Amino acid sequence: MSDCIFCMIAKGEIPSNTIFENDNFRVILDNGPATKGHALVLPKNHYADLFEIPEDVVAEAAKVAKTVAGKMKEKLGCDGLNLVQNNGAIAGQTVMHFHLHIIPRYEDDGQRILWKPSSPSAEELVEIKNQIVG
Ligand code: 5GP
Ligand code: ZN
Repeated sequence: MSDCIFCMIAKGEIPSNTIFENDNFRVILDNGPATKGHALVLPKNHYADLFEIPEDVVAEAAKVAKTVAGKMKEKLGCDGLNLVQNNGAIAGQTVMHFHLHIIPRYEDDGQRILWKPSSPSAEELVEIKNQIVG
């Protein structure tokens, strides 16, 4: 994907604020951060989203996120942390190269990374469960 910005960043063809790197991943600071330290785990190979990324690669992404999360706690003193991973424009994905957001959270950071809960009936939940597992 020669025109993919995250491919270019992940491969080091475009400079970035890299906070972790190994053979398969680069973790960079988001340039429009939700909070101090907001970072993106980028695979060096191009996969559009969770549907495309192989299981072993996404498993490694989770390990990388854990390593970086520990650093966030130790070095930035965050009070909590959100992992966010958007798939598809409807879900808020704007860069179509798989990435995992690591968003350190601080008391009074003013962010809301939440959803509006709905209230399905017990029957509706069972119907959805059956639709997924059936
Ligand atoms: P998405 O909405 O696709 O889940 O997240 C894309 C994220 O990438 C956004 O938080 C945005 O700020 C960040 N971003 C987009 N372009 C660049 C870039 O060129 N460099 C960096 N460091 N972050 C970027
Ligand atoms: Zn890419």
